[in-house]
Amino acid sequence: MDALILKPGKEKSLQRRHPWIYSGAVARVKGEPAAGDTVRIVSADGVFLSHAAYSPASRIRARVWNWSEAEAVDESLMFQRLRAALAGRESLEAFRHPKGAVRLVHGESDGLPGIIADRYAETIVLQCLSAGAERWRKTIAGQLLQLTGCACVYERSDAEVRQMEGLSPRHGLLLGAEPPERVESFEPGSPGLRFLADVRRGQKTGLFLDQRDSRALIGSVARGADVLDVFCYAGGFSLAALAGGARSVLALDSSGDALSVARENMALNGLPPDRTEWRQADAFKALRLLRDQGRSFDLIIVDPPKFAPTAAHVERAARAYKDINLQAFKLLRPGGAMATFSCSGAVGIELFQKILAGAALDAGVTATVEKRLMAAPDHPVSLSFPESEYLKGLVCRARIDSG
Ligand code: SAH
Repeated sequence: MDALILKPGKEKSLQRRHPWIYSGAVARVKGEPAAGDTVRIVSADGVFLSHAAYSPASRIRARVWNWSEAEAVDESLMFQRLRAALAGRESLEAFRHPKGAVRLVHGESDGLPGIIADRYAETIVLQCLSAGAERWRKTIAGQLLQLTGCACVYERSDAEVRQMEGLSPRHGLLLGAEPPERVESFEPGSPGLRFLADVRRGQKTGLFLDQRDSRALIGSVARGADVLDVFCYAGGFSLAALAGGARSVLALDSSGDALSVARENMALNGLPPDRTEWRQADAFKALRLLRDQGRSFDLIIVDPPKFAPTAAHVERAARAYKDINLQAFKLLRPGGAMATFSCSGAVGIELFQKILAGAALDAGVTATVEKRLMAAPDHPVSLSFPESEYLKGLVCRARIDSG
Protein backbone atom coordinates (compact mmCIF):
# COMPACT_ATOMS: atom_id res chain seq x y z
CA MET A 1 0.00 0.00 0.00
CA ASP A 2 1.15 3.56 -0.70
CA ALA A 3 2.43 5.53 2.27
CA LEU A 4 3.15 9.00 3.58
CA ILE A 5 6.39 9.14 5.52
CA LEU A 6 6.36 11.91 8.11
CA LYS A 7 9.15 14.27 9.10
CA PRO A 8 10.85 13.54 12.42
CA GLY A 9 8.66 14.65 15.37
CA LYS A 10 5.56 15.04 13.23
CA GLU A 11 4.02 11.84 14.60
CA LYS A 12 3.14 13.55 17.89
CA SER A 13 -0.30 14.89 16.99
CA LEU A 14 -1.25 11.51 15.53
CA GLN A 15 -0.17 9.81 18.72
CA ARG A 16 -2.65 12.09 20.48
CA ARG A 17 -5.23 10.84 17.95
CA HIS A 18 -5.66 14.10 16.10
CA PRO A 19 -6.99 12.90 12.72
CA TRP A 20 -5.34 15.34 10.30
CA ILE A 21 -1.94 15.19 8.63
CA TYR A 22 -0.87 18.59 7.29
CA SER A 23 1.22 18.86 4.12
CA GLY A 24 4.09 20.36 6.11
CA ALA A 25 4.38 17.19 8.20
CA VAL A 26 5.01 14.92 5.21
CA ALA A 27 8.62 14.16 4.27
CA ARG A 28 7.81 12.03 1.24
CA VAL A 29 5.14 10.04 -0.55
CA LYS A 30 5.83 6.38 -1.24
CA GLY A 31 4.11 5.08 -4.37
CA GLU A 32 1.66 7.07 -6.48
CA PRO A 33 -1.57 7.33 -4.53
CA ALA A 34 -4.54 9.06 -6.19
CA ALA A 35 -6.92 11.45 -4.42
CA GLY A 36 -9.07 9.52 -1.96
CA ASP A 37 -6.84 6.42 -1.91
CA THR A 38 -6.06 4.86 1.43
CA VAL A 39 -2.43 5.34 2.46
CA ARG A 40 -0.38 4.18 5.41
CA ILE A 41 0.95 6.96 7.62
CA VAL A 42 4.41 6.10 8.86
CA SER A 43 6.72 7.97 11.24
CA ALA A 44 10.23 9.03 10.21
CA ASP A 45 11.63 5.95 11.95
CA GLY A 46 9.30 3.59 10.15
CA VAL A 47 6.55 3.02 12.74
CA PHE A 48 2.97 2.56 11.45
CA LEU A 49 0.67 5.28 12.82
CA SER A 50 -2.61 5.10 10.94
CA HIS A 51 -4.49 4.51 7.70
CA ALA A 52 -5.71 7.70 6.11
CA ALA A 53 -7.38 9.08 3.00
CA TYR A 54 -4.92 10.88 0.72
CA SER A 55 -5.82 14.34 -0.45
CA PRO A 56 -3.03 15.69 -2.68
CA ALA A 57 -4.67 19.06 -3.38
CA SER A 58 -5.34 19.98 0.24
CA ARG A 59 -3.23 21.48 2.97
CA ILE A 60 -4.80 18.74 5.09
CA ARG A 61 -2.91 16.13 3.10
CA ALA A 62 -4.53 13.10 4.71
CA ARG A 63 -7.39 12.32 7.13
CA VAL A 64 -7.29 9.31 9.40
CA TRP A 65 -9.67 6.37 8.93
CA ASN A 66 -8.24 4.15 11.66
CA TRP A 67 -5.26 3.59 13.95
CA SER A 68 -4.83 -0.13 13.46
CA GLU A 69 -2.41 -1.76 11.04
CA ALA A 70 -4.44 -4.96 11.09
CA GLU A 71 -7.81 -3.39 10.31
CA ALA A 72 -8.58 -2.81 6.64
CA VAL A 73 -10.22 0.37 5.33
CA ASP A 74 -13.14 -1.18 3.50
CA GLU A 75 -16.92 -1.34 3.32
CA SER A 76 -17.15 -3.11 6.62
CA LEU A 77 -15.20 -0.36 8.39
CA MET A 78 -17.61 2.24 6.96
CA PHE A 79 -20.58 0.12 8.07
CA GLN A 80 -19.17 -0.24 11.57
CA ARG A 81 -18.58 3.52 11.84
CA LEU A 82 -22.10 4.33 10.68
CA ARG A 83 -23.65 1.82 13.05
CA ALA A 84 -21.70 3.34 15.94
CA ALA A 85 -22.75 6.87 14.92
CA LEU A 86 -26.41 5.87 14.92
CA ALA A 87 -26.12 3.96 18.20
CA GLY A 88 -24.58 7.04 19.83
CA ARG A 89 -27.70 9.07 18.99
CA GLU A 90 -30.32 6.62 20.19
CA SER A 91 -31.01 8.54 23.39
CA LEU A 92 -32.01 11.65 21.44
CA GLU A 93 -35.68 12.26 20.84
CA ALA A 94 -34.81 13.92 17.53
CA PHE A 95 -33.27 10.59 16.47
CA ARG A 96 -36.04 8.33 17.77
CA HIS A 97 -38.94 10.36 16.40
CA PRO A 98 -39.90 8.98 12.97
CA LYS A 99 -40.08 12.52 11.54
CA GLY A 100 -37.14 13.80 13.56
CA ALA A 101 -34.49 16.15 12.15
CA VAL A 102 -31.11 14.97 13.38
CA ARG A 103 -27.47 14.85 12.36
CA LEU A 104 -26.56 11.18 11.87
CA VAL A 105 -22.90 11.62 11.01
CA HIS A 106 -20.66 14.48 12.12
CA GLY A 107 -17.40 13.93 10.26
CA GLU A 108 -14.20 13.41 12.23
CA SER A 109 -16.04 13.16 15.57
CA ASP A 110 -17.79 10.04 14.28
CA GLY A 111 -14.61 8.61 12.78
CA LEU A 112 -15.77 9.51 9.28
CA PRO A 113 -13.67 12.51 8.19
CA GLY A 114 -15.33 14.88 5.75
CA ILE A 115 -18.70 13.11 5.89
CA ILE A 116 -21.85 14.85 7.12
CA ALA A 117 -25.27 13.23 7.05
CA ASP A 118 -28.42 14.97 8.26
CA ARG A 119 -31.77 13.19 8.40
CA TYR A 120 -35.03 15.06 7.87
CA ALA A 121 -37.81 12.52 8.47
CA GLU A 122 -37.21 9.98 5.66
CA THR A 123 -34.74 12.09 3.69
CA ILE A 124 -31.02 11.91 4.33
CA VAL A 125 -28.87 14.77 3.07
CA LEU A 126 -25.23 13.84 2.57
CA GLN A 127 -22.24 16.17 2.32
CA CYS A 128 -18.86 14.84 1.21
CA LEU A 129 -16.22 17.44 2.01
CA SER A 130 -12.91 15.65 1.48
CA ALA A 131 -11.25 13.43 -1.10
CA GLY A 132 -11.68 10.38 1.15
CA ALA A 133 -15.35 11.13 1.70
CA GLU A 134 -15.75 11.52 -2.05
CA ARG A 135 -14.25 8.07 -2.65
CA TRP A 136 -16.71 6.32 -0.33
CA ARG A 137 -19.87 8.33 -0.99
CA LYS A 138 -21.85 5.60 -2.76
CA THR A 139 -20.95 2.99 -0.17
CA ILE A 140 -21.92 5.33 2.66
CA ALA A 141 -25.19 6.31 0.97
CA GLY A 142 -26.21 2.68 0.49
CA GLN A 143 -25.30 1.73 4.02
CA LEU A 144 -27.18 4.72 5.45
CA LEU A 145 -30.37 3.62 3.71
CA GLN A 146 -29.85 0.05 4.83
CA LEU A 147 -29.32 1.08 8.46
CA THR A 148 -32.09 3.69 8.74
CA GLY A 149 -34.79 2.51 6.34
CA CYS A 150 -34.99 6.07 5.00
CA ALA A 151 -36.38 6.74 1.53
CA CYS A 152 -33.48 8.54 -0.10
CA VAL A 153 -30.04 10.07 0.10
CA TYR A 154 -29.81 13.51 -1.49
CA GLU A 155 -26.30 14.84 -1.97
CA ARG A 156 -25.37 18.42 -1.13
CA SER A 157 -21.65 18.34 -1.68
CA ASP A 158 -21.61 21.97 -2.69
CA ALA A 159 -19.92 23.58 0.32
CA GLU A 160 -17.07 25.95 -0.46
CA VAL A 161 -14.56 23.93 1.58
CA ARG A 162 -14.54 21.33 -1.21
CA GLN A 163 -12.47 23.73 -3.28
CA MET A 164 -9.64 23.35 -0.79
CA GLU A 165 -9.73 19.61 -1.50
CA GLY A 166 -9.64 20.22 -5.26
CA LEU A 167 -13.19 18.93 -5.57
CA SER A 168 -15.89 20.59 -7.67
CA PRO A 169 -19.38 21.08 -6.25
CA ARG A 170 -21.97 18.38 -6.75
CA HIS A 171 -25.61 18.06 -5.75
CA GLY A 172 -28.51 15.85 -6.66
CA LEU A 173 -30.25 12.62 -5.81
CA LEU A 174 -27.74 9.92 -4.94
CA LEU A 175 -30.00 7.02 -3.99
CA GLY A 176 -33.72 6.26 -3.66
CA ALA A 177 -36.73 8.42 -4.51
CA GLU A 178 -36.64 12.19 -5.19
CA PRO A 179 -37.46 14.08 -1.97
CA PRO A 180 -40.40 16.52 -1.96
CA GLU A 181 -39.89 20.22 -2.74
CA ARG A 182 -40.16 20.94 0.97
CA VAL A 183 -39.25 18.18 3.39
CA GLU A 184 -41.19 18.35 6.64
CA SER A 185 -39.49 17.24 9.83
CA PHE A 186 -40.01 17.53 13.58
CA GLU A 187 -37.82 19.26 16.15
CA PRO A 188 -38.43 18.21 19.75
CA GLY A 189 -38.65 20.91 22.39
CA SER A 190 -41.53 22.28 24.34
CA PRO A 191 -43.91 22.05 22.61
CA GLY A 192 -41.84 20.85 19.63
CA LEU A 193 -41.95 22.40 16.19
CA ARG A 194 -42.44 21.25 12.63
CA PHE A 195 -39.99 22.61 10.10
CA LEU A 196 -39.97 22.62 6.34
CA ALA A 197 -36.58 22.41 4.67
CA ASP A 198 -35.57 23.03 1.09
CA VAL A 199 -32.94 20.30 0.91
CA ARG A 200 -32.07 21.14 -2.72
CA ARG A 201 -31.41 24.85 -2.46
CA GLY A 202 -31.42 25.66 1.26
CA GLN A 203 -28.23 26.61 3.10
CA LYS A 204 -26.05 23.76 4.40
CA THR A 205 -28.24 20.64 4.21
CA GLY A 206 -31.49 22.59 4.53
CA LEU A 207 -31.64 23.55 8.22
CA PHE A 208 -29.20 24.32 11.02
CA LEU A 209 -29.72 21.33 13.29
CA ASP A 210 -26.83 22.30 15.58
CA GLN A 211 -28.98 25.00 17.21
CA ARG A 212 -31.80 22.64 18.28
CA ASP A 213 -31.09 22.83 22.01
CA SER A 214 -30.50 26.58 21.96
CA ARG A 215 -33.79 27.08 20.13
CA ALA A 216 -35.54 25.08 22.86
CA LEU A 217 -33.84 27.26 25.47
CA ILE A 218 -35.08 30.42 23.76
CA GLY A 219 -38.58 28.96 23.65
CA SER A 220 -38.45 28.45 27.41
CA VAL A 221 -37.54 32.06 28.25
CA ALA A 222 -39.54 34.00 25.66
CA ARG A 223 -42.88 34.39 27.43
CA GLY A 224 -44.11 37.97 27.18
CA ALA A 225 -40.89 39.16 25.51
CA ASP A 226 -40.36 41.45 22.58
CA VAL A 227 -37.87 39.42 20.56
CA LEU A 228 -35.34 40.35 17.89
CA ASP A 229 -34.00 37.41 15.85
CA VAL A 230 -30.97 38.54 13.85
CA PHE A 231 -29.90 36.15 11.03
CA CYS A 232 -33.16 34.19 11.39
CA TYR A 233 -32.82 31.90 8.30
CA ALA A 234 -35.91 29.61 8.18
CA GLY A 235 -37.25 31.07 11.41
CA GLY A 236 -35.86 28.58 13.92
CA PHE A 237 -35.40 30.83 16.93
CA SER A 238 -38.38 33.03 16.04
CA LEU A 239 -40.79 30.12 15.95
CA ALA A 240 -39.44 28.74 19.21
CA ALA A 241 -39.96 32.17 20.80
CA LEU A 242 -43.50 32.49 19.41
CA ALA A 243 -44.40 28.99 20.58
CA GLY A 244 -43.00 29.95 23.97
CA GLY A 245 -45.37 32.91 24.24
CA ALA A 246 -43.31 35.86 22.94
CA ARG A 247 -45.27 39.10 22.71
CA SER A 248 -43.69 40.10 19.39
CA VAL A 249 -40.93 38.91 17.08
CA LEU A 250 -38.93 40.89 14.57
CA ALA A 251 -36.83 38.53 12.44
CA LEU A 252 -34.11 39.66 10.05
CA ASP A 253 -32.27 37.86 7.27
CA SER A 254 -30.69 38.89 3.99
CA SER A 255 -32.07 35.85 2.15
CA GLY A 256 -35.54 36.16 0.63
CA ASP A 257 -35.65 32.39 0.07
CA ALA A 258 -34.96 31.74 3.75
CA LEU A 259 -37.71 34.17 4.78
CA SER A 260 -40.22 32.45 2.46
CA VAL A 261 -39.54 29.15 4.18
CA ALA A 262 -39.77 30.91 7.55
CA ARG A 263 -43.26 32.20 6.72
CA GLU A 264 -44.34 28.72 5.62
CA ASN A 265 -42.94 27.30 8.85
CA MET A 266 -44.93 29.78 10.89
CA ALA A 267 -48.15 28.78 9.15
CA LEU A 268 -47.33 25.07 9.45
CA ASN A 269 -47.10 25.44 13.22
CA GLY A 270 -50.26 27.51 13.48
CA LEU A 271 -48.37 30.39 15.09
CA PRO A 272 -49.91 33.88 15.05
CA PRO A 273 -48.70 35.91 12.03
CA ASP A 274 -49.85 39.21 13.59
CA ARG A 275 -47.12 39.09 16.23
CA THR A 276 -44.27 38.57 13.75
CA GLU A 277 -42.46 40.67 11.20
CA TRP A 278 -40.09 38.97 8.75
CA ARG A 279 -37.79 41.60 7.34
CA GLN A 280 -35.33 41.11 4.49
CA ALA A 281 -32.31 43.26 5.30
CA ASP A 282 -28.61 43.41 5.84
CA ALA A 283 -28.28 42.89 9.58
CA PHE A 284 -25.45 45.38 10.02
CA LYS A 285 -27.54 48.19 8.53
CA ALA A 286 -30.85 47.05 9.97
CA LEU A 287 -29.65 47.15 13.59
CA ARG A 288 -28.42 50.72 13.17
CA LEU A 289 -31.76 51.67 11.71
CA LEU A 290 -33.63 50.11 14.62
CA ARG A 291 -31.46 52.08 17.00
CA ASP A 292 -32.23 55.30 15.13
CA GLN A 293 -35.92 54.45 15.44
CA GLY A 294 -35.54 54.08 19.19
CA ARG A 295 -36.53 50.40 19.19
CA SER A 296 -35.53 48.03 22.02
CA PHE A 297 -36.06 44.36 22.91
CA ASP A 298 -36.22 42.00 25.90
CA LEU A 299 -34.64 39.07 24.08
CA ILE A 300 -32.18 39.22 21.19
CA ILE A 301 -30.70 36.31 19.23
CA VAL A 302 -27.61 36.92 17.10
CA ASP A 303 -26.71 33.85 15.03
CA PRO A 304 -24.55 35.03 12.13
CA PRO A 305 -22.97 32.95 9.36
CA LYS A 306 -19.36 31.88 9.73
CA PHE A 307 -17.38 35.16 9.63
CA ALA A 308 -14.01 33.36 9.82
CA PRO A 309 -13.82 30.46 7.32
CA THR A 310 -10.18 29.84 8.32
CA ALA A 311 -7.68 30.99 10.94
CA ALA A 312 -6.42 33.61 8.47
CA HIS A 313 -9.73 35.45 8.71
CA VAL A 314 -9.88 35.73 12.50
CA GLU A 315 -9.03 39.40 12.77
CA ARG A 316 -11.58 40.54 10.22
CA ALA A 317 -14.13 38.18 11.74
CA ALA A 318 -13.48 39.57 15.22
CA ARG A 319 -14.33 43.06 13.94
CA ALA A 320 -17.58 41.80 12.40
CA TYR A 321 -18.57 39.95 15.59
CA LYS A 322 -17.79 43.04 17.63
CA ASP A 323 -19.79 45.34 15.38
CA ILE A 324 -22.92 43.20 15.17
CA ASN A 325 -22.94 42.50 18.92
CA LEU A 326 -22.28 46.13 19.78
CA GLN A 327 -25.30 47.15 17.71
CA ALA A 328 -27.37 44.40 19.31
CA PHE A 329 -26.37 45.41 22.86
CA LYS A 330 -27.59 48.93 22.11
CA LEU A 331 -31.05 47.50 21.42
CA LEU A 332 -31.20 45.41 24.60
CA ARG A 333 -33.46 46.62 27.41
CA PRO A 334 -32.11 46.67 30.96
CA GLY A 335 -32.65 43.20 32.41
CA GLY A 336 -32.96 41.77 28.89
CA ALA A 337 -31.06 38.75 27.53
CA MET A 338 -29.03 38.27 24.40
CA ALA A 339 -28.10 34.83 23.01
CA THR A 340 -25.18 35.37 20.69
CA PHE A 341 -23.26 32.80 18.65
CA SER A 342 -20.16 32.21 16.59
CA CYS A 343 -19.87 29.19 14.31
CA SER A 344 -16.31 30.05 13.26
CA GLY A 345 -14.06 27.20 14.37
CA ALA A 346 -11.11 29.59 14.38
CA VAL A 347 -12.75 31.86 16.99
CA GLY A 348 -12.51 30.12 20.36
CA ILE A 349 -14.84 30.72 23.28
CA GLU A 350 -12.32 32.84 25.15
CA LEU A 351 -11.77 35.14 22.22
CA PHE A 352 -15.50 35.28 21.59
CA GLN A 353 -16.20 36.28 25.18
CA LYS A 354 -13.51 38.93 24.97
CA ILE A 355 -15.11 40.33 21.82
CA LEU A 356 -18.45 40.45 23.63
CA ALA A 357 -16.88 42.27 26.55
CA GLY A 358 -15.58 44.93 24.18
CA ALA A 359 -18.94 45.18 22.43
CA ALA A 360 -20.85 45.65 25.71
CA LEU A 361 -18.36 48.23 26.90
CA ASP A 362 -18.64 50.29 23.73
CA ALA A 363 -22.43 49.99 23.79
CA GLY A 364 -22.47 51.27 27.36
CA VAL A 365 -24.11 48.11 28.70
CA THR A 366 -23.14 46.29 31.90
CA ALA A 367 -23.81 42.62 31.32
CA THR A 368 -23.23 39.21 32.84
CA VAL A 369 -22.70 35.85 31.17
CA GLU A 370 -25.60 33.68 32.21
CA LYS A 371 -24.84 30.56 30.21
CA ARG A 372 -22.45 29.11 27.65
CA LEU A 373 -23.99 27.23 24.77
CA MET A 374 -22.73 24.71 22.24
CA ALA A 375 -24.03 22.56 19.43
CA ALA A 376 -26.62 19.87 20.17
CA PRO A 377 -25.15 16.46 21.06
CA ASP A 378 -25.74 14.95 17.61
CA HIS A 379 -22.82 17.26 16.65
CA PRO A 380 -20.35 15.65 19.06
CA VAL A 381 -17.14 17.35 20.06
CA SER A 382 -14.19 14.97 19.97
CA LEU A 383 -11.66 15.55 22.76
CA SER A 384 -8.81 14.68 20.43
CA PHE A 385 -10.15 16.98 17.71
CA PRO A 386 -10.88 20.40 19.24
CA GLU A 387 -11.73 21.76 15.78
CA SER A 388 -15.04 19.94 16.12
CA GLU A 389 -16.17 22.52 18.71
CA TYR A 390 -17.01 25.11 16.06
CA LEU A 391 -20.26 26.46 17.49
CA LYS A 392 -20.20 28.46 20.68
CA GLY A 393 -22.75 30.76 22.22
CA LEU A 394 -23.20 33.01 25.22
CA VAL A 395 -26.36 34.15 26.91
CA CYS A 396 -25.58 37.65 28.20
CA ARG A 397 -27.93 39.58 30.45
CA ALA A 398 -27.92 43.34 30.68
CA ARG A 399 -28.00 44.44 34.31
CA ILE A 400 -31.19 46.18 35.40
CA ASP A 401 -29.13 49.20 36.38
CA SER A 402 -27.14 48.84 33.17
CA GLY A 403 -25.04 51.73 32.06
N1 SAH B 1 -30.54 31.10 13.33
C1 SAH B 1 -30.76 30.26 12.18
C2 SAH B 1 -29.48 29.98 11.39
C3 SAH B 1 -28.76 31.22 10.92
S1 SAH B 1 -27.60 30.93 9.65
C4 SAH B 1 -31.43 28.95 12.61
O1 SAH B 1 -31.59 28.70 13.82
O2 SAH B 1 -31.82 28.18 11.75
C5 SAH B 1 -27.07 32.51 9.18
C6 SAH B 1 -28.08 33.32 8.37
O3 SAH B 1 -27.51 34.61 8.15
C7 SAH B 1 -28.43 32.80 7.00
O4 SAH B 1 -29.83 32.63 6.91
C8 SAH B 1 -28.00 33.92 6.02
O5 SAH B 1 -28.92 34.10 4.96
C9 SAH B 1 -27.99 35.11 6.91
N2 SAH B 1 -27.09 36.22 6.55
C10 SAH B 1 -25.83 36.18 6.08
N3 SAH B 1 -25.31 37.42 5.97
C11 SAH B 1 -26.27 38.29 6.39
C12 SAH B 1 -26.36 39.71 6.54
N4 SAH B 1 -25.32 40.49 6.25
N5 SAH B 1 -27.50 40.24 7.01
C13 SAH B 1 -28.55 39.46 7.33
N6 SAH B 1 -28.53 38.12 7.21
C14 SAH B 1 -27.42 37.54 6.74
